[in-house]
Formats: sequence, C-alpha cells, structure tokens
Amino acid sequence: MIDAIWPRHAERLPDGGLRLGGCDARSLAAQYGTPLFVVDELDVRSRAAEYKAAYDHGDHPFEVFYASKAFLTVAIARWVHGAGLGIDVATGGELAVALRAGIPGEQIVMHGNNKSRAEIEAALEHGLRALVCDSLDELARIGSIAAERGLVAPVMLRLTAGVEAHTHEAIATAHEDQKFGLSIATGMAAKAVDQALGDPHIDLRGFHSHIGSQIFDADGFEIAAHRVALFMADMARTRGYVADALDLGGGMGIPYVDGDDPLDVAEMAHRLRAIVVRECSSAGIAVPRLSVEPGRAIVGSSTVTLYEVGVVKQVQVSDDFVRQYVAVDGGMSDNIRTALYNADYTAALANRVSHATAVPSRVVGKHCESGDIVVNNLQLPTDVRAGDLLAVATTGAYCWSMASNYNNLPRPAVIAVRDGASRVLIRRETAEDLLARDQDA
Ligand SMILES: *Cc1c(COP(=O)(O)O)cnc(C)c1O
Repeated sequence: MIDAIWPRHAERLPDGGLRLGGCDARSLAAQYGTPLFVVDELDVRSRAAEYKAAYDHGDHPFEVFYASKAFLTVAIARWVHGAGLGIDVATGGELAVALRAGIPGEQIVMHGNNKSRAEIEAALEHGLRALVCDSLDELARIGSIAAERGLVAPVMLRLTAGVEAHTHEAIATAHEDQKFGLSIATGMAAKAVDQALGDPHIDLRGFHSHIGSQIFDADGFEIAAHRVALFMADMARTRGYVADALDLGGGMGIPYVDGDDPLDVAEMAHRLRAIVVRECSSAGIAVPRLSVEPGRAIVGSSTVTLYEVGVVKQVQVSDDFVRQYVAVDGGMSDNIRTALYNADYTAALANRVSHATAVPSRVVGKHCESGDIVVNNLQLPTDVRAGDLLAVATTGAYCWSMASNYNNLPRPAVIAVRDGASRVLIRRETAEDLLARDQDA
C-alpha cells in the first residue's frame, strides 16, 4: 500500500510503474484501453468485512446495508453481500442489478423520493425488507398499490432532523428547505406516522435518518440521533407507536487528499452505538433494531481511474503564475464530482516516476466545457507528456455510477484486479453501442 488514499493493494514497482492488485497499470492500459476504472477487489471485500465486524456485534448490533448508488455492478453486489452486507437501492435499475447478483429481497431496502408505480410493485413482488418513504403522497401510493395486491407494505419513514453534515461541519438548524425527508420540526413526520398507522396496507417498521456525506466525525449523527430519539419517544407517548427499526444512514467519510482524516471504522461504529444507546435511554425508549448504510466508505478507495495524457499546456494565469494543464482522454463524463461538488482528488503518474520539478497543475478532460476538470489543483512534474499514464485515486464512489455519454463519449470499462489477475466487470462502451439506440442510424 502506498498510503490510505490509494487502494490497499497498490504499490510502486522498482522501475516506477504503478501496480494495482498485483497487475502492472501499464499492461492493464495496454490490454483494456483508457480511461479505465480499476477496482481492487480485495479492497472492497475487506472494507465491507470491516464494516460488518465493527457494526454487527454486541448488545446493539447494527445491520450494514451497502448504498449501492455509489458503485454498482453485479460483481460488486456479490462481494459486499458475501461479506454479510445487505443492499440499498434507489431505483428499479439498481434493484435489477441486486436481484441479478442473487441478493435475497429480504436483504434489500428501497430508497428514493419519487418511486414509480413499477418500482413500488417490484419492491413488493420481491419481498424487499422495506421501502423508505419520505412523503405523504408516496405513502398513500404505496398503501394503495399494496391494497390492490392484497399485501401489507413494510415501510420506514425518512425523517429530516434538521441536520446536515459534510466533513467537518454539521449544520444543525437549517436545511429544512430540500427535497428529502419528513420534517420533525414542522410536524410533517408526525403526520406521516398517523397516516401510516391508519393504513392497513402499511406496516410501519420504523425510522430512517441520513444526514449527509463525507462525514469525518460523529457530531452530526449525535444531533440527529438526539432529535430522532425524542421524536420516537413522542410517538410512543402520544400514539402508542413503538418503532422496531432505526437506520442512521450513511455518509461515513474517506480520505481523498493529504490531510483528510476521518474517524476509523471501529471508532465511528463505537461512537454511533454509544450515542444511540444514550439518546434512547434518556428519551425513555428501548433501543430499536439498528442499521447503517455506507456507500462511499465501502468502495471509494478501492478504485483508480487510469487515463492517458494527451495535450499538456502551460497557461499564464497572471504575471507571476503559470498553471500546467494536463488533458486526459476522459473527463467529466467519467468523473463529474469535481464539477458537481468541487471535489478534491489525488493523482500520480502510473507508468513511471518523474524527478522533474513539480508545478501547480490541473487535470482536465476532453469535453467541450471549461468546467471539465478532473483534479482541480495538484502538483505534477514539468515533464508530463503525451502518452504518460495518469492514475486518479479514490474514484470508486459516484464516478462510474454518475458517468454520462456527454459528447457521445463511450463510457469506460470497469475491471477488477486481484492477486495479479484482472477481469472485466463492465465492458467498455463503443460508438456502436451508442448508435444502436438511435432509430435513424
Ligand atoms: C447516498 C446515500 C447513502 C450513502 O452515502 P455515502 O456518502 O456514500 O455513504 C446512504 N443513505 C442514503 C439515504 C443515501 O441517499
């Protein structure tokens, strides 16, 4: 391992090449082409196993569901399920992959703030663990679709506790003005409980709260758990409703650049358990069955995107500042996070080590957008040139899953590496694939 940012089985070869899962990055690029998502299979499996071990034990075990929107292929679903995790899906498309992977419906939870009739029907048909619902409107729809089929739908209500956490800051008052959740503060959540309890085709299993992503400490969870526990106590007192299940969501952070320092898995698990037990006890309620649903933390660090460098340009930004622009053969179509969230990444040459001076640089793609930036700000050597291979680390979460065909660029292949062997998980798209759906082509 090079450091915590890179996959667990990444190392430098004596000649400077990068080795991933025992495979030389140069050979992978030659065999599969670039851009290429290279997934360290044992990295994913070991992180999933660590979450399982850290959360699912003791007096108040947490079940762990993998939030599959981060990165989902049939193989990835099987790896995480093999480590004992359930799966969260948010669409019928994600559900189809989870089912194809052989995950039993009982270990799948369906999210989504606007599920289609077909998605609700599929969830009921396959006996999913629960549908997480966050509107009165959809709650009524789930009830009526279940009624048509003579079923009772298992439902969890997604609460808005008024907390939003990102990395270091947890904002504990604002953030009611967004599309997710049923607000505790405005009374919408209590209304949903009443509606659910009054609907014979809804089985209200409990509550759900997801406060954000890239969270490095437990502060935001603490505020949310406090408010949710008070709400549960209120529902028990005023409605006689005792929630069976509580999901604290995902959002556990990972390091992308030097200096990122999230709590480690075991410590976060320990703190979350302590917080829930304490908050439930002071609210005077029993601790419900617990779960969490990390996405990024399971897959984020496992994957490296390999690009080939093309054009290198020195841009005179001001009288005394030049920035080196390094253009690669992908861009915002395979990694939208920099443009969308101003995300930071770490990158390094993968075909060699350079001893040339490192200068302020920016890695950009080949799309027709000035915002087409992969790595906004990093140091790269002055001798980077066309044909070099560039590896961008930590691209396992929300890169391939958010990939597009902007500029009619075929989406990259996804390969798994393990113990010196590689195999294709998702083959590279071709221009023919893209034309195949064009009815005039
Ligand atoms: C996205 C999401 C997650 C996973 O978030 P990560 O930051 O990838 O851990 C979990 N739960 C819900 C409801 C989500 O929307």
